[in-house]
Amino acid sequence: MSNSENTKYVIGVDLGGTKILAAVIGESGEVISRAKKKTKPERPTEEILGRLVSVCREAVEASKLSFDQISGVGIGSPGPLDPEKGIVIETPNVNLTGAKITDFVSGELGIPAFLDNDVNVGTFGEFVYGAGKGCRHLVGIFMGTGIGGGVIVDGKLLHGFSYNAGELGHLKVRAFGAKCGCGDRGCLEAYASKTAMIKNFKKAVKKGKATILTELIGDNWNKLTSKVFRKAWDANDKLVINELERAAKLTGVAVGSLLDVLSPEKVIIGGGLVEALEEELLPIIRENAKKNCFPIISKDVEIVPAALGDDAGILGAAAIAWKRLKGEAVAV
Ligand SMILES: [Zn+2]
Repeated sequence: MSNSENTKYVIGVDLGGTKILAAVIGESGEVISRAKKKTKPERPTEEILGRLVSVCREAVEASKLSFDQISGVGIGSPGPLDPEKGIVIETPNVNLTGAKITDFVSGELGIPAFLDNDVNVGTFGEFVYGAGKGCRHLVGIFMGTGIGGGVIVDGKLLHGFSYNAGELGHLKVRAFGAKCGCGDRGCLEAYASKTAMIKNFKKAVKKGKATILTELIGDNWNKLTSKVFRKAWDANDKLVINELERAAKLTGVAVGSLLDVLSPEKVIIGGGLVEALEEELLPIIRENAKKNCFPIISKDVEIVPAALGDDAGILGAAAIAWKRLKGEAVAV
């Protein structure tokens, strides 16, 4: 790696509900330095943006590079947002509604700033540096508290008419089914997100159903991490296994529909749950995707785990900054 004074870098930022991660990143995806701060999502918008800027400065300081070597900053934020204008439209969990993120950040740091929604950014990270390297057509699904997704068509993120294409968690997997946080019914997120599963576990426990979860986490559902899911599975806990199997099955159904519409070469499945239970869940997702898709489209598709883990956000944000700095379009 060349560390000459002419070598350029960008900052990749992952702005989440609990923490803000920033990293100084080279063009081939090498992470030079990192910094982290709590988001404090309930604080005034200006304060959150101030924390974002200061975590960027800390990352540059830790890199020992001069600020002249930093060409730009890419930011992944919860949305919905307008990536062209760099404005957050609405964020229920972080006080950023209406925030002009890119104007603020580039004003403070004196370098161009670029914005996209966190899951699009994660998908783009996997596309450029991770499990989707070398693909042209790709779908990313990330299973966590909610379910997010991103779509890459011919090497570009699909933004669509509203700029918010890729809300894959709200694909309908059961018409008029379970109620979803978005207000609709039957969305994938209403079955396969951690939030949905916790709702069902609570109901089952209330009805007196036996589960090792009560032993592992008591009634503190915040403690239900992917590791706890793993332990419950290994202990052959029927409640947890049934719930996870259903989640994987319905994720497969959604993937099948996505394949029919988009015909990608790869589908990347990410999130802590899949990392903890890859061998158990991925085969179910694959089987049900193929079952629910037009055969010629599903024939050679690979459904694979994400490769970058928590770094997908900072790396994707950096990748977007690199491309935009060169004047290349990252989205359609
Ligand atoms: Zn929904």
